[in-house]
Amino acid sequence: MNPLSKMDPRAPLVLDTRELGRRPGSQREVSRTVPAPADLGIEVLRVPEGSPVDLDLRIEAVMEGVLVTGTARAGLEGECVRCLEPISDELEVKFQELFVYADHAVSEEDDEVSTLENDLVDLEPLLRDAVVLALPFQPLCQDDCPGLCPECGARLADDPDHGHEAAIDPRWAKLTALENHPEQPE
Ligand SMILES: [Zn+2]
Ligand SMILES: [Zn+2]
Repeated sequence: MNPLSKMDPRAPLVLDTRELGRRPGSQREVSRTVPAPADLGIEVLRVPEGSPVDLDLRIEAVMEGVLVTGTARAGLEGECVRCLEPISDELEVKFQELFVYADHAVSEEDDEVSTLENDLVDLEPLLRDAVVLALPFQPLCQDDCPGLCPECGARLADDPDHGHEAAIDPRWAKLTALENHPEQPE
């Protein structure tokens, strides 16, 4: 009935808060390294599936549930949207979420509220949102990446003086004529 009841306590991103107890104020620090789930990121920049994600978490019992505050660190792989050069980067994101005790939840229909189930919390949606929010929509290999040559597709950052003999840009046509015939009077 409840889709959350599929939560697997052995899943790397499912956290068991049972040892914490329910006394408000009690807290624990948890550090773990988990393999990245699939599709963590955006199409052009993501944490490769299975690569390590380092998590530092503080879990804290509050009146309504369990407050999870964390930092995640992971490697990123992707490609520059202008020149398609591979990009490797590091990402560090912070996140925080209150997981409400199921018996305190106002309504089970309320999708906005994260709930605990059998003292388990699922960190995956939290991690996914934090990572996606932190990524640039248009990752670049360098801020001023000039992209690719529209004529031959060469990567212009590798060859800034790149040009073609048969330049068709009319702004350059005059200059080219001048260079080819230096003796020609102006
Ligand atoms: Zn680039
Ligand atoms: Zn070219």
